[in-house]
Amino acid sequence: MFIRYETYRVNLERVREAIEAAESKAGREPGSVALLPVTKNHPVDAARYAFRSGLKSVGENRVQEALSKMDDADAALRWELIGPLQSNKAKKVAERFYRVQSVDRAKVIAALQRHALESGRTLRLLLQVNAGDDPNKSGADLEGASPLLECALEQPNLQVDGLMTIAPLDDNPAVARSCFAALRRCRDRLETEFCVSLPELSMGMSGDMGEAIQEGSTMVRVGTALYGDREYA
Ligand SMILES: *Cc1c(COP(=O)(O)O)cnc(C)c1O
Repeated sequence: MFIRYETYRVNLERVREAIEAAESKAGREPGSVALLPVTKNHPVDAARYAFRSGLKSVGENRVQEALSKMDDADAALRWELIGPLQSNKAKKVAERFYRVQSVDRAKVIAALQRHALESGRTLRLLLQVNAGDDPNKSGADLEGASPLLECALEQPNLQVDGLMTIAPLDDNPAVARSCFAALRRCRDRLETEFCVSLPELSMGMSGDMGEAIQEGSTMVRVGTALYGDREYA
C-alpha cells in the first residue's frame, strides 16, 4: 500500500528541515535549494500529493511512465525528465515535459529542438554530466560538456538552465562530495567559456543531499525520503 498523505507531509517536513540545516551549515541563503520530488515507480498519488502540498514540479525517470500519469494529475503540475532519453521519444517529451535534466548527447539535442519547434514552445534543459566518472552512470564526461553546451546553445527552442549529475554510490560521503564539487567547477568553467549564465545545479538525492548542498546544489531530487522505498511498485 502506498503511504497516506499525512505520512507524506511528515516526510516532507523532515526533508525540508534537512535542506534548511544543510543550507545554514553551508552559509547559504534559506530557500536557495529547491526540492524536486521524484515520483518514479510510485502511483500517480505521489504526484498528486506533491501538488497538493504546494510543490510545482515532479521528477520521473521513464518517459512512458510519466506520460501515463500526466492525465491523472493536476494539469498545472510540471514534469521533469531525470532519466535516459532515446531520440525516438523526443517528440512526446518536447510536447509534454517542462524540462529535461538528462540531456547528454547531441543527437537528443537535435531531436528535442526539432520537436520543440514543431510544437511552438521553448523546452528547458539541463545537461547531464558524469562528474563522478562513474562507469555505471550516463552523462557527458567532463571534457564532453563544452561541445555539448555549444550544440545546445545553438538551438533556438531550447534553453539551457544548468547542469545535472548523479553521484557514484559509495559508503564514503567524500566520494559524492567530490563529484558535486567537480560539477560546480565544470559549470563555472562553462559560464566563463561561453559567457552564459547556468544557474541550475541539480545534484543530491535522499542519501547525499547534505553533501550536494555544501557544494552549491540549487535543486535536490528526492524520492525515497519523501515516499518511502519503491519495492512494492
Ligand atoms: C530515483 C532518482 C532520484 C531519487 O533517488 P532517491 O534516492 O530515492 O531520493 C534522483 N535522481 C535520479 C536521476 C533518480 O533516478
